[in-house]
Amino acid sequence: AQAEIGLIGLGTMGAALALNIAEKGFPIAVWNRTTEVTHRFHAGAGELAEQVVPTETLEELVAKIAEPRTIILMVPAGPAVDDQLAALTPLLGQDDLVIDAGNADFHDTNRRSEAGLPFRFLGMGVSGGEEGARHGPSIMAGGTAADWDRIGKVLTAISAKAEDGSPCAARMGDAGAGHFVKMVHNGIEYADMQMIAEVYGLLRDGMDKSAGQISAIFDNWNNGPLQSYLIEISAKVTAASDPHGDRPMVDMILDRAGQKGTGRWTAIEAQHLAAPIPVIEAAVMARNVSARLDERKAGEERFGAPATGIDLPPQVLEQALIAGKILCYAQGFLMIEGAAKSFGWSLDLPGIARVWRAGCIIRSAMLNDMADALAEDPGRNLAMAPYFADLIEKALPALRQVVANGIAAGHPLPALASGLMWFDMMRTARGTANMIQAQRDFFGAHGFERIDGIADEHGPWGSSQ
Ligand code: NDP
Repeated sequence: AQAEIGLIGLGTMGAALALNIAEKGFPIAVWNRTTEVTHRFHAGAGELAEQVVPTETLEELVAKIAEPRTIILMVPAGPAVDDQLAALTPLLGQDDLVIDAGNADFHDTNRRSEAGLPFRFLGMGVSGGEEGARHGPSIMAGGTAADWDRIGKVLTAISAKAEDGSPCAARMGDAGAGHFVKMVHNGIEYADMQMIAEVYGLLRDGMDKSAGQISAIFDNWNNGPLQSYLIEISAKVTAASDPHGDRPMVDMILDRAGQKGTGRWTAIEAQHLAAPIPVIEAAVMARNVSARLDERKAGEERFGAPATGIDLPPQVLEQALIAGKILCYAQGFLMIEGAAKSFGWSLDLPGIARVWRAGCIIRSAMLNDMADALAEDPGRNLAMAPYFADLIEKALPALRQVVANGIAAGHPLPALASGLMWFDMMRTARGTANMIQAQRDFFGAHGFERIDGIADEHGPWGSSQ
């Protein structure tokens, strides 16, 4: 049989994606480094097995795909991708197309795109975990429009669909643009999760709420403006009981967060781009701090735990989270806009918001309105778009109240607080960088611009140095 497409790497994501592709009616040839995995996959494919062509060598894989060939790589990011590209090099022609669908660093995707590979190459971010890959992920591709057009039919068919039926799969731009957008998606994911965790902490430690009570609050929020996958699963995880006892599951989980690094990549890249994304940076910082368990225990022994007795209605916490979320996304989209300018990519910001509406981890009701607001003016701070400016104006007192009360009682709220700090800086017409400039000129003779139009000059501090 001639398969329409091939796939390499039948791990968690690759296997799910292959079944999704087969289910949508595209015969698929598959190959895995460990052959036994390929046969187990085929045997477990049920009625979809007919659409799956298992192969034992790369040569066989290539021979089973109709020309010009398309092969999806779903192996760990890094050297495994380079190794597979090298192994495919003698087997493929210049019209064949390889798609790296793993979580590649977009710099690697840029490098591979420019390396003069003897076949076509697309970088593709896939979000939604195993469930998304199986039943509809969000897909962010980078490469030429011609390559996207060639395979877009399959990728839109397997992708998630937004409520209006449009597919959550699109070409973001050239080369590494798809993996770049996926990286920022992951950074926002870190931030969304952290802000929810901060509100959870206030409810648990500041207001003595049980996991069950917190679950009910989250569940309620999921019917309002915060409706999102992450709020939905937060309600579910706080409702679950420990199978080894009857305590809430979440209470039995060590407070040390794992990370695979994509949030950190976003923070590092933001520094290179001089893009302020403090909410995401705070979320990465919080995961790093969470790893320092012993130091935190010693800190509490020396300085005491945060105080209880905070009294905030859930509606105030909900409004604070709404404000924090808008500010975080505003930062994320400004970073994407900055990258577009810096890398010469033409990135479709409303299109990105639309691709995130379904299938991916940060899917939420609010992304619909964000797409509309970005369509009005893609380069504008989302917090300044009339619709969101009104929401922020309404929610801001709650965010201030939550941050102020939390901080006064010693509760760490790094993401919510840094969103607020950024907002206050962004609405301050005369900031304090005049002081920085004066200091820089004093010790380093860096000069400064004046506010009155007199030519740039140095300050009168020469003699005092
Ligand atoms: P798994 O560990 O489940 O699977 C890895 C697959 O890659 C296996 O098929 C493995 O083959 C193969 N592989 C590993 N090393 C090599 C190598 N050096 N050469 C050839 N094949 C190799 O990983 P996932 O499916 O979870 O992840 C795959 C990619 O998708 C990663 O880039 C990941 O970051 C990304 N991703 C994962 C998500 C998730 O939720 N898990 C979500 C979005 C993206 P073998 O059977 O021989 O070991």
